[in-house]
Amino acid sequence: MSAIVLPSYDEVVERYEPVIGLETHVELGTNTKMFCGCPTDFGGEPNTRVCPVCLGLPGSLPVANKAAIEATIRIGLALNCSIAEWCRFARKNYFYPDMPKNFQISQYDEPLCVDGYLDVEVQGRTVRIGIERVHMEEDTGKSLHVGGATGRIHGATESLVDYNRAGIPLVEIVTKPIPGTGALAPEIARAYVTELRDVLRSLGVSDVRMEEGSLRCDVNTSLNRPGDEWGTRTETKNVNSLRSVERAVRSEMLRQAALLDAGTKILQETRHFQEDTGDTRPGRSKETATDYRYFPEPDLVPIAPDRAWVAELKAALPELPRVHRQRLQEQWGLSDLDMQSVLNAGAVELIEQTVAAGTTPASARKWWLGELSRRANESGVDLAAVGASPAQVAELQRLVDEGKLNDKLARTVLEGVVAGEGDPAEIMAARGLGVVSDTGALTAAVDEAIAANPDIAAKIREGKVAAAGALVGAVMKTTRGQADAKTVRELILERLS
Ligand SMILES: [Zn+2]
Repeated sequence: MSAIVLPSYDEVVERYEPVIGLETHVELGTNTKMFCGCPTDFGGEPNTRVCPVCLGLPGSLPVANKAAIEATIRIGLALNCSIAEWCRFARKNYFYPDMPKNFQISQYDEPLCVDGYLDVEVQGRTVRIGIERVHMEEDTGKSLHVGGATGRIHGATESLVDYNRAGIPLVEIVTKPIPGTGALAPEIARAYVTELRDVLRSLGVSDVRMEEGSLRCDVNTSLNRPGDEWGTRTETKNVNSLRSVERAVRSEMLRQAALLDAGTKILQETRHFQEDTGDTRPGRSKETATDYRYFPEPDLVPIAPDRAWVAELKAALPELPRVHRQRLQEQWGLSDLDMQSVLNAGAVELIEQTVAAGTTPASARKWWLGELSRRANESGVDLAAVGASPAQVAELQRLVDEGKLNDKLARTVLEGVVAGEGDPAEIMAARGLGVVSDTGALTAAVDEAIAANPDIAAKIREGKVAAAGALVGAVMKTTRGQADAKTVRELILERLS
């Protein structure tokens, strides 16, 4: 195969228009599985959270989990969807060892929630993303291939399967095709998944951890020349972080443009995102709906949610993230631009919690957007995982406000917090940090500085008070930054008056 020369991204968006679409799977945080009473908690010994229903044993009958239906309706309402008055589950037939029944119970032509939207902000612009459908289904088990070097089936001597995850409630959220995004397609895809994650979190329906797979995203991408029909789309799977969503769209746009430039047709296929290289590799050719031979699930009754119940759920929805952010921006007195940098840093909740712990918005923002953002960038982790908690940041600022730490010492203490040495007060004590404002202890250092700098001392005696700064600097140096600068200055002026 000859190597493909990729065009530049600017060239791609000049010649082609992208159409993207996103399919997101969310594992619901219900106590029990979708169609049986097995617990959903993570981490049990393999095949210990199973029963005849989720193992698909003959004669077992599923019963739908009301809490999962309720969560799905709430998701639909938060995404401005219509809630079906009547809908059914469907069997999606396929044969794979991690699917014990040889079919998955899902929804097909009668989803529970349809035709909604989610507004997202990208570079100061509001983009309305259409939601095609929100439907319920069940998760599969997990295969494990052992005996090989790679953990893949090739070279493995045995394959094991763990059905603990089989039957965990999943909700699939599918967008309508999103045309007209132009060069912003990758960022809009990322902004959508971010906003969706925040909405789901605010509803409390899932822990939405992409790294752990409770939120999974498939990204559809196609390109067409302006004025032409939409192109053939590919579906990129295995996109496990927000950053990867953006990279996957971008790399697929580049790859498809190179093929189209060369007159090659795009295959409708499933592709896999490669975290290491940032590009996509071909997977299986995409099944069509007919391959799955969907039919209504005969073992489950239809779902007909009572309208009064739906209205009740709607009235009880929490404040959604977008509205919440607007309220915080007002409370914190931030400009759109300042709020945008808080958002970009992923610091909204962290600042909110730090303020709740007793810090002013300005101080909270200073730490999270300054020192801690810098450290997070350096170590390539999310700000929330940098190693400092909102409570610790609030405590640090309290010590500064009380005059026990100055800015420089506070940074040193924060270093210790990030390194996992404990809470700020503990680190201050353990490392012997803290501002010295005890005049007795400082007088010797002041006298030493005066003796070492007779010229400056003479100037101050003559009334040139501004010269005191140099002596304060000298004292700070000998006390390794731990002296209280205000007290030092007062002492110097007192000695030389
Ligand atoms: Zn079960």
